[in-house]
Amino acid sequence: MLKIDSHTHTLPKKMPNWSEKFGYGDFIYLQHHKKGAAKMMRGNQFFREIQENTWNAELRIKEYEKFNTQVQVVCTIPVMFSYWAKPLDCLSLSQFLNDHIAKLVAKYPRNYVGLGTVPMQDAELAVKELERIKKTGLRGIQIGSNINDENLNEEKFMPIFQACEKLSLAVMVHPWNMMGQQKMQRYWLPWLVGMPAETSRAICSMIFGGVFERFPKLRVMFAHAGGSFLPTIGRIAHGFACRPDLVAIDNNVDPRNYLGKFWVDSVTHDPMMLEYVLKLQGSRRVMLGSDYPFPLGDLEIGKFIEEMSLSKKVKEDIFFRSVLEWLDIDEKKIISQKKKR
Ligand SMILES: [Zn+2]
Repeated sequence: MLKIDSHTHTLPKKMPNWSEKFGYGDFIYLQHHKKGAAKMMRGNQFFREIQENTWNAELRIKEYEKFNTQVQVVCTIPVMFSYWAKPLDCLSLSQFLNDHIAKLVAKYPRNYVGLGTVPMQDAELAVKELERIKKTGLRGIQIGSNINDENLNEEKFMPIFQACEKLSLAVMVHPWNMMGQQKMQRYWLPWLVGMPAETSRAICSMIFGGVFERFPKLRVMFAHAGGSFLPTIGRIAHGFACRPDLVAIDNNVDPRNYLGKFWVDSVTHDPMMLEYVLKLQGSRRVMLGSDYPFPLGDLEIGKFIEEMSLSKKVKEDIFFRSVLEWLDIDEKKIISQKKKR
């Protein structure tokens, strides 16, 4: 069965030292301190160690083929977004990352599909970059769950969503810059508590702000199975019904109406939760995702889904149909490519 992984991250092995180049700011740079690993440094602070499989395209293929996966959708690591930087600098950084992914996809068209990044802090520049990446063959963009702490329903972001709809570029919303992280440094809480909350914040902002009403053809996917949104949909829908004066002020459509309209990945680490997500979303709006190559991801790439007693049709939806529809890729084209492998 064709398996496409909708959620993976990559970086080029070498990047300029942006802080030196631009003369300010704690941009991420890579310190290749030993063979096969590098430290991601934010200013002088250690952020995270990454391994060779973050940048080595062929090693990645070897690793994901072990789990019968044939294609990875790749995007950058959210900490690279740099929405806080001067817009033109963020554009130049984004273009560097986008060109790296476009080259990767051009070299391995059967193995990788690419998503770009854009300077969300400046809609005009972002739209220009969307038009450019469309021509390079990228299928969409990855954006943060908030933009410099502003929610995704802010009017200033609308031209970007409008352009994605017009250009038929998919949007992946990834949690980052987690709310409250200063107050919960211990126990990896920004990742375990902050990230699911961030994703729900993004979904609720887009629903209540009427973004899906304004752009009905916009195809949006939310990482980590939509974070805490689906598990708390009862509370959210009840809040909408009991306090419309607080919730339904910009959009009077019941939040449950949006279930099955946007996409989510399968990163739940829990078959029971995935069953629930499937019930709410329908199998055509749930897609295989791993968050490869990071340890909090599903690094067996959907093995738990293969072991679940789901019908062949539902598994096919999760493994490839949903993601192809999200990326606007013709199923027949990819299947015939697979046969040529
Ligand atoms: Zn991720």
